[in-house]
Amino acid sequence: MSPPEWDVIVLGAGPAGALAAHQLSRQRLRVLMVDKRAFPRWKVCGTCLNGVALGALAQAGLSGLVERLGGVPLVRLRLGLQNHQTELALPLGQSLSRGCLDLALCEAAVAEGTVFRMDTEATVAGLCPGGRQVRLRCGATPETTSARVVLVATGLGSPGLTPAIGIRSRVQAHSRVGAGCRVGVSASGYGRGTIHMAIGRHGYVGLVRTEAGDLNLAAAFDRAHLIQAGGAALAAAGVLAEAGFEPVPQASAAAWMATSALTVRRWPPASARLLLLGDAAGYVEPFTGEGMGWALLGALATVPLVLQGQRQWSRELERQWVRRHAHLIGSRQRLCHGLAFALRRPGLSRCLLAAVERWPILAAPLLHPFDGTSLNPPVPEPCP
Ligand SMILES: Cc1cc2nc3c(=O)[nH]c(=O)nc-3n(C[C@H](O)[C@H](O)[C@H](O)COP(=O)(O)OP(=O)(O)OC[C@H]3O[C@@H](n4cnc5c(N)ncnc54)[C@H](O)[C@@H]3O)c2cc1C
Repeated sequence: MSPPEWDVIVLGAGPAGALAAHQLSRQRLRVLMVDKRAFPRWKVCGTCLNGVALGALAQAGLSGLVERLGGVPLVRLRLGLQNHQTELALPLGQSLSRGCLDLALCEAAVAEGTVFRMDTEATVAGLCPGGRQVRLRCGATPETTSARVVLVATGLGSPGLTPAIGIRSRVQAHSRVGAGCRVGVSASGYGRGTIHMAIGRHGYVGLVRTEAGDLNLAAAFDRAHLIQAGGAALAAAGVLAEAGFEPVPQASAAAWMATSALTVRRWPPASARLLLLGDAAGYVEPFTGEGMGWALLGALATVPLVLQGQRQWSRELERQWVRRHAHLIGSRQRLCHGLAFALRRPGLSRCLLAAVERWPILAAPLLHPFDGTSLNPPVPEPCP
């Protein structure tokens, strides 16, 4: 019986997977990272890195990466609701296109020794002696490989996670779906350095200029409304009009991409020789734009457990990850649930906006991740 081929296989090369691969390769583990897409790739995202995300990158030894790639400093949050607008100062934050950020993180992982296979779809399979198997499919050729520890960072959809491998998925009833696009040149009302957030009855749209000057649109809509409106471009135009924001005519001709349901609970986020991180471990709709911070923080937090799992796997490691994940991310996700509830009620949203305008301190929970003070990354233990 041969030992597992790899120390770690990382499924998914978004921020969670790429940073985990980077950190584990630095610990001299043999790491294979696979992604079903070819990089650079675009993905639906508001592209805003808050203080937590930037702090996690610095903690990983990648400080300055976002600046070097031309990240645009974010200084303002402009909220629009029912034709009324207000602005809040942001303490920290950068906007960087996902194509650029995710490619740079993958390159950083490869520079540390990660073997990266793109265009390769992976599925978690059963246990084998001393490890777990993973099925890979690139074109028509399937193959099976194995690792002592498998990290699943396949994002929102993650269809391969089933009760058969000990993970249950539950999509929240009436969960909104995401949609996004980017447009080249656009309406002048959307200046650099500001997160423009338009809130409507059936969803919201975030607009940000990225390093190339493109306008990135990322939205969450009620699924039924998306269909009723006749697609994402029309639904977004409706939300912008409701908020009193300038129209973005180019968005109607842009290629919109949609996501699966945004609010998903996966439980537990660990199984035998398997840890879930990033969106794959569960997600709440993205009004506060914290997903990349959670993904990067999660990547740092898995490192000590994966190192321990190289020597011996135990149920206690799984329990530790469940606790650590809940501690790092669970409380923020509860706040996001609360916000999602309020945003579906126009009267309540109006009251909240009026209160924030009058007492800006009330926006502290919204802005807190931007200053990075909730960053509590674990320090990786040295390689055994
Ligand atoms: C509308 C919207 C706006 C958002 N705005 C922000 C924001 O402004 N700031 C912020 O921080 N977060 C934001 N987020 C959240 C953020 O995009 C995610 O939280 C973040 O991308 C999670 O990173 P990840 O690495 O877990 O997953 P992903 O970035 O989704 O990466 C997963 C990777 O796995 C790959 N994959 C999937 N299945 C397989 C498979 N079977 N085999 C191999 N590869 C696979 C995919 O191709 C993908 O590359 C937003 C999300 C949405 C939907």
